[in-house]
Amino acid sequence: MYPDLTGKTVVITGAATGIGQAIALRFGQEKANVVINYHSNHDGVEETIAKIKEAGGQAIDVQGDMSNEEDAQRIVQTAHDTFGSMDIMINNAGMENEVPSHELSLDDWNKVINVNLTGAFLGSREALRYMLKHNIKGSIINMSSVHEIIPWPHFVHYTASKGGVKMMTQTLAMEYAPHGIRVNGIAPGAINTPINAEKFEDPDKKEAVTKLIPMGYIGEPEEIAAVAAWLASSEASYVTGITLFADGGMTKYPSFQGGNG
Ligand code: NAD
Repeated sequence: MYPDLTGKTVVITGAATGIGQAIALRFGQEKANVVINYHSNHDGVEETIAKIKEAGGQAIDVQGDMSNEEDAQRIVQTAHDTFGSMDIMINNAGMENEVPSHELSLDDWNKVINVNLTGAFLGSREALRYMLKHNIKGSIINMSSVHEIIPWPHFVHYTASKGGVKMMTQTLAMEYAPHGIRVNGIAPGAINTPINAEKFEDPDKKEAVTKLIPMGYIGEPEEIAAVAAWLASSEASYVTGITLFADGGMTKYPSFQGGNG
């Protein structure tokens, strides 16, 4: 636990499900003020809010499409109006769909880029404007992926978006370091969330993914939430511009395991 997170206000985008929901619950345990952004699916949000309050934190939910400029502005404004501050922004909202690249429609390309990259930019920009205006030495965390470095056929829009998130994170980190604002990324490997639900229901596909992970298991959202809590805390006060890989070793060339190669 990180005592300096108590009473801090954190905005988490796409926090109705999966990793975002686990982050919301973790910051609740840290007794933070949690702003849960959700898009279309509100299922489970009330339960998350109740659990956060039970753990000693505070929480509200805000509907909004992170690829929409006005929505991103309204979400940050709501955090301020409700809790009087905004100290931590976690741009977690994301989506993917599998399509061979030569068949990928411009519409599908735009949707994924708009949510994963432009959404993270809008969330970062609004957080930066707020932090600069209120002289807050805050923390911004962008949810990237191992696919910011691992190519992934049939997911060119997704890999392009996460590669973009990587460079956006590094550039913003450098640009706002003089203001004491830290900007970092988290790159999860394969995590047990709704984004993967269909794939992991198929035992063969699940096994194929597990083989890519030296630690031998698919990660849980709470393991990513723990990384987010540390990165946001003052324990990480000198850390900016990194992508922290939480991937069970997936990016360490697992085919070389056992001395192959
Ligand atoms: P998820 O599908 O449970 O979560 C994504 C959330 O983003 C959903 O709640 C969805 O409603 C929300 N969202 C989608 N479009 C939105 C929009 N326009 N505005 C606001 N919210 C929107 O899946 P997850 O695994 O929890 O994904 C969270 C993040 O982690 C994503 O950025 C994803 O790319 C990244 N990630 C996940 C994995 C994994 O294996 N699960 C691996 C690497 C990276």
